Amino acid sequence: MAEFAIAPAPVPTVPIEGEAQAFPVRRILCVGQNYAAHRAEMGGDDRAPPFFFSKPSDAVVPPGRDPAYPSRTQNLHHEIELVVAIGKPGADVAPDAALDLIFGYAVGVDLTRRDLQAAAKGAGKPWDAAKGFDDSAPISAIRRWSKAPPAGRIRLSVNGETRQDATLDDMIWNVAEIVSEASKLWALAPGDLIFTGTPEGVGPLSRGDRVEGEVEGVGRLAFTVA
Ligand code: MN
Repeated sequence: MAEFAIAPAPVPTVPIEGEAQAFPVRRILCVGQNYAAHRAEMGGDDRAPPFFFSKPSDAVVPPGRDPAYPSRTQNLHHEIELVVAIGKPGADVAPDAALDLIFGYAVGVDLTRRDLQAAAKGAGKPWDAAKGFDDSAPISAIRRWSKAPPAGRIRLSVNGETRQDATLDDMIWNVAEIVSEASKLWALAPGDLIFTGTPEGVGPLSRGDRVEGEVEGVGRLAFTVA
């Protein structure tokens, strides 16, 4: 292999609960509008299928670090999400085989520059600056998981006040369907993370806000907007 002309970027990692070895992040895919009440609050169409967008792998903010408030926005929003960590490769996988690809689950927040997203939507432009910015994917440790997907509550509070509180049963597409659909668009590989969408109650964050999130049975995350 050729030597590098510049130092290669470090591999972004997420800790694995109870283990010394970390999970190396390859790619971050995200599902848009996967809960009916959130789709309605965003003005979405109930008949449209969910869709994917992505964040760069180095957008992850592992536990113990605080995300920086991003530049060029006046309306940073929180979106609490169940995150799927992929541990085996798979392309064009059927839903009934999709769970075999899963390494585990984590709790993530899809931070969003809502003002830039609204402008992009209105102009028919891409969402990269609204979704894929530095520090836009705070995440908990990954919990290894080999049984049926989590089915409990998903919650987020800001400064102790509950903002989002729903159940994973409210997802329009379930975990198996999301992994299957993603695998038809991309060849999934170990290290991929899939953010599975957020329930209703998204809202703005300010510098200094304390954000706490939980997915029942999966874990918790907490950070302060720096
Ligand atoms: Mn989201």
